[in-house]
Amino acid sequence: MPNNEELRLEILSVVRRLEEKGFNHVSTGNVSCRDSEAVLITPTGGNSDNLTPARVVRMDLDGRVDGPGVPSSEWHMHTSILRAFPAANAVVHTHADACVALSCLRKSIPAFHYMVAGFGGNDIRCARYATFGTADLAASAVDALQDRTACLLANHGMIAMGKTLEAAFNMTVKLETLARQYLLALQAGEPVLLPPEEMERVGQRYGNYGVGLLPG
Ligand SMILES: [Zn+2]
Repeated sequence: MPNNEELRLEILSVVRRLEEKGFNHVSTGNVSCRDSEAVLITPTGGNSDNLTPARVVRMDLDGRVDGPGVPSSEWHMHTSILRAFPAANAVVHTHADACVALSCLRKSIPAFHYMVAGFGGNDIRCARYATFGTADLAASAVDALQDRTACLLANHGMIAMGKTLEAAFNMTVKLETLARQYLLALQAGEPVLLPPEEMERVGQRYGNYGVGLLPG
């Protein structure tokens, strides 16, 4: 496990790469990771222009801030996910365009592509709508993440988790890619969905690749 300073630098690196990919529109994305019993999380309004390792906020999983700074307004979502999924160590939330577009249709992403299985099942769910920054939104995200590594958030965006910051970042990139490809397919017609038995086969080929994160 990297030490506190290394984790802070890794968080900055993920924020910068989310911006490079165009996923983090004016600080709408936020990133967290476990630091022993606590969590390190980007501050409210954090982006690569203003972030330093020292500005990353440390808080416990009940939301008590340890040291200076104000955490991202979505700290409920980050801490609830880390509490609910002990195997997850990192969480990335963004308003990436294709994920937002699908989330506004309140559509889960079905088995239109085999890589959907890399998120743990036959679909990637869209969580029930709740107001941003609330414990209710956190509960909705935790529900939609059962047996999955990412979900859409209705009329809002997406959230992904991983064993490491790198894994959560990669899930974010893969989800936004699949969301964009699903939207493209929907524009061209009605995508043919893979049947459950094929998704089962694909899931077995993935092995622990994505599903290994899941508790139990
Ligand atoms: Zn958001």
